[in-house]
Amino acid sequence: MLLYNSATRKKDEFIPHTEGKVNMYTCGPTVYHFAHIGNLRTYIMEDALEKYLRYIGYDVNRVMNITDVGHLSSDADTGEDKMLKGAKREKKTVMEIAKFYTDAFFSDCEKLNIKRPDVVEPATNCIAEFINMVQGLLDGGYAYIAGGNVYFDTSKLDDYYVFNNFDAEDLAVGVRDSVSEDENKRNKTDFVLWFTKSKFEDQELKWDSPWGVGYPGWHIECSAISIKHNGEYLDIHCGGIDNAFPHHTNEIAQSEAFLGHPWCKYWFHVLHLNTSNGKMSKSKGEFLTVSLLEEKGYNPLAYRFFCLQSHYRKSQEFSFEALDNAQSAFNKLVARVAALKNEGEVDMAVAEKYSKQFSDVLGNDMNTSLAVTAVYDALKADTNDATKLYIINDFDRVLSLDLAEQAKAYNEKSVAPAANEEDAEIDALVAQRTQARKDKNWAEADRIRDELNARGIVLTDTPEGVKWSRK
Ligand code: AMP
Ligand code: ZN
Repeated sequence: MLLYNSATRKKDEFIPHTEGKVNMYTCGPTVYHFAHIGNLRTYIMEDALEKYLRYIGYDVNRVMNITDVGHLSSDADTGEDKMLKGAKREKKTVMEIAKFYTDAFFSDCEKLNIKRPDVVEPATNCIAEFINMVQGLLDGGYAYIAGGNVYFDTSKLDDYYVFNNFDAEDLAVGVRDSVSEDENKRNKTDFVLWFTKSKFEDQELKWDSPWGVGYPGWHIECSAISIKHNGEYLDIHCGGIDNAFPHHTNEIAQSEAFLGHPWCKYWFHVLHLNTSNGKMSKSKGEFLTVSLLEEKGYNPLAYRFFCLQSHYRKSQEFSFEALDNAQSAFNKLVARVAALKNEGEVDMAVAEKYSKQFSDVLGNDMNTSLAVTAVYDALKADTNDATKLYIINDFDRVLSLDLAEQAKAYNEKSVAPAANEEDAEIDALVAQRTQARKDKNWAEADRIRDELNARGIVLTDTPEGVKWSRK
């Protein structure tokens, strides 16, 4: 498999440290709010990567942290502590907030068919591991104490690695949001490993440590959790592109300083989901969630379909118009699968040919959009329906669009499958309008009715539901 590696800035042949086995780490969510659909784009693409690795026979161990503490990285972080802000907003404790939004995150993942990683580890479970790693860094001369905090000394490295060509201005900024300078630092790029003193004094969660009562910095959690569950050699580290610097850069610095050898070979970064106003972001406060899409009558899997249609290394622009198109294409696809009869014997030679096409496009740096095209090609194949169904179910091990289940539900709902693509599309629009009306979303219901009307479709309310006919 060829995989683009942000560390080498090219597509590399994927060769894991141990033959047949892949250790994979994913930066998990910061659980002070719902995940937005931008965050979930990253998790969908990482899920496709994990499933593809399994599809081609690897034994994968995927580890994810939950940032329920330790999302600060310097005393210069501005604004309020995010977890505390969430707790205050909802008049709950930090741990209650963390539990609520962790559950909400996994419920969204389930709706989007994102598999739960093999190991999910909240940062608050690993304080002993963090302390051990910080101590190791101090012992090795890679860290220093200043103003009550323990800092990583980036000047001790020959190569304080950065993924991209960040300029000095960017490098001066050591945290997620905009910052002011932290006076304790010896070098601009240094970062906190353990806090005992900070302006975020009102932290709810603090632990005893050799350096006093305090709490961990943000970057240490991912290194320590990955080493705990994946061992000293990590094959793939994933995350959204905003994590490349400083978070992943600092993970590499501290992990390699601690271990004394190279740590992670491949870095998989997913580009952002943007809206016309720029990057979708949790801290901006205005963002779209899976529940909101559902309330508007969209099938979460249509959002997954939308994501798979673009390449993970390109940023993707979100608009409701684009999602409407994805929903309608998804409905049509389901209708086509629903029209297949499970008849005939599976022709394995044909199935293998298509599986190879599918595997080849994903094996070339996860081209999920061509993988979706492979589904359409299989539907057009010169073979029987049983073979087509077999191929589609096989591809769904990676795509996870639930095509067979969706088709079954479609057949159960709409007695007879649509005669052709156009009918299927009209059925889907009528169903969307019914949902919009149920949701009292009259504007959307009217919009769909007008669209149908413009296409010469007349709607009639009957006791069995809405029927449509051509003018
Ligand atoms: P957070 O919960 O902020 O720690 O972010 C969770 C994941 O979502 C990280 O891998 C981020 O890099 C990623 N992420 C944040 N914003 C976006 C976005 N607009 N589009 C795609 N991924 C994002
Ligand atoms: Zn991380």
